[in-house]
Amino acid sequence: MYPDIQGKSILITGGSSGIGLGLALNFARNGGKVAITARNAARLEAAITMASAQGLTIKGYVCDVSIAQQVKETVALCAEQNGGLDVLCCNAGVFPSAALCDMTESEWDDVHAVNSKGTFLCVQAAIPWLKQAGHGRIILTSSITGPVTGYPGWAHYASSKASQLGFMRTAALELAKDNITVNAILPGNILTEGLADMGDDYIATMAKSVPLQRLGSVDDIAAAALFFASQAAGYITGQTLIVDGGQILPESSSCIS
Ligand code: NAP
Repeated sequence: MYPDIQGKSILITGGSSGIGLGLALNFARNGGKVAITARNAARLEAAITMASAQGLTIKGYVCDVSIAQQVKETVALCAEQNGGLDVLCCNAGVFPSAALCDMTESEWDDVHAVNSKGTFLCVQAAIPWLKQAGHGRIILTSSITGPVTGYPGWAHYASSKASQLGFMRTAALELAKDNITVNAILPGNILTEGLADMGDDYIATMAKSVPLQRLGSVDDIAAAALFFASQAAGYITGQTLIVDGGQILPESSSCIS
């Protein structure tokens, strides 16, 4: 438990499923005033209903993170309705697969529009509110794919996830004077709805590649986000935390017993 999360206003993009929903539930369990965004209103509503069945209150806002005007309006509305903004989790992301030789310009642009530009738009829109809070926290959901590893079919995705880290380092410098920290979590393979779409073969192969011998859970990622949002992490900025069960460690598959 992180008692200092109590009463904090937290906005999580891509909060209607997977890691984002896991972040939302865990911040709410710790007493945070949690708001989530996503494009699909029905899935947003389903997430809120699911949280409510667990006795947790979460607000939802329909917003596409790749559209500047929507982001600006949504962040402002959320902050006005929740007493400001203390923590922004830039988590919305897409990971379609396309072989490099066949990848179209629009496939490249679409992935960067959500994962990379979406991060920039959300952070920029949140800055005035995080400054006002006096202790703002920005937490990015990046990935091991791109910053550390590669995976066939994900040249655009890997590029967008590495881009988040370049952005993070400069944002951390520019925002430090306002006592706003910017950090990133690099998940390995986390069992989410999005990962399930990759198919059983992908999941079985990945599970075998993890020294801790299981895929990650959304709660594993939420634990890292709670830490970055807490007072305990107040002197950490511009840093990455890999949460992957040791997946990037082996030099060969023979290292995994
Ligand atoms: P997921 O289950 O597919 O959930 C993605 C969420 O993002 C949904 O709420 C989705 O809702 C939202 N979203 C997608 N495009 C959006 C847009 N343009 N604007 C606003 N919301 C949007 O995915 P996940 O596995 O939880 O992944 C979440 C994040 O973790 C992503 O950034 C991903 O790159 C990263 N990650 C995941 C893993 C993994 O193993 N699962 C590993 C490394 C990194 P709508 O579709 O309704 O908008």
